[in-house]
Amino acid sequence: MADNGGAAGNGAAGNRAAGNRAAGNGPTGRAGSALDIRDLAAGYGNVAVLDNVTIAAAAGTITAVLGANGAGKTTLLRTISGSVRARAGQIEIDGMSLVRRAPEEIARAGVAHVPEGQGVITELTVEENLRLGLLLRPRRERAAAIADAYQRFGVLGDRRRQAAGTLSGGERQILVIARALLSAPRVLLLDEPSLGLAPKIVAQVMDLIARLRDESGLTVVLVEQNARSALEIADKGVVLNLGRVVAESDAAELAADVGLRRHYLGF
Ligand code: ATP
Repeated sequence: MADNGGAAGNGAAGNRAAGNRAAGNGPTGRAGSALDIRDLAAGYGNVAVLDNVTIAAAAGTITAVLGANGAGKTTLLRTISGSVRARAGQIEIDGMSLVRRAPEEIARAGVAHVPEGQGVITELTVEENLRLGLLLRPRRERAAAIADAYQRFGVLGDRRRQAAGTLSGGERQILVIARALLSAPRVLLLDEPSLGLAPKIVAQVMDLIARLRDESGLTVVLVEQNARSALEIADKGVVLNLGRVVAESDAAELAADVGLRRHYLGF
């Protein structure tokens, strides 16, 4: 990723606008949650994956969802965005139920999902990839939204006519995040954005995610194997094990819990 790859703007990560948080709502609070998941069950065929999962993500915060391979993290994001059906429980965004809605309706309700794997269409240019993110936006807003994306993510503007397949891993990750933001979501679901990236690039991508929260008040659910990096920017951490929540607390508290870290998070 080039040095100008991060989000532009004056506010550094950590310069968090207090107004981004729901008033009187701590990181583990429920009142005012942008995303509220209660007693959720989901799976595939005969395989039950998620069981009784309850997570509240406060508006304008980052919730890191952590846990070993197979814990159910990806399934959780797929269930929120509607590609896996909830078998029981409730998922609400700003009080509106998402359960049994089609993926497109969930996207229109303000949820953007960036799946694992930096999935760009390699033969299309950077700009053509970005335009796919505009399908839910009214036509009159599209030109300004693209211009805004280039201003925010300078590296994409520099490479707008280049095939996306020529981008580095970090640049692809920026592209898929920028594409998701073009739908103007309130809740951004990110699946393993650090996967396959060098440590320096991971730090840049995490910094970008923190800035999206701090500057835009975005609510982020961040699934990560890289628990240490995720907890550095998260407000809250949730640990899944075999489809159940085994810990949910303030990110700093979770990072300081040596037993939990060693047992579930591998650091
Ligand atoms: P990873 O980091 O390895 O992706 P994860 O925590 O994201 O792990 P999931 O991908 O949600 O976990 O997988 C949870 C369980 O669901 C695993 O046992 C997995 O084998 C199973 N699973 C995932 N996708 C399917 C599918 N399409 N059909 C059947 N089982 C699946």
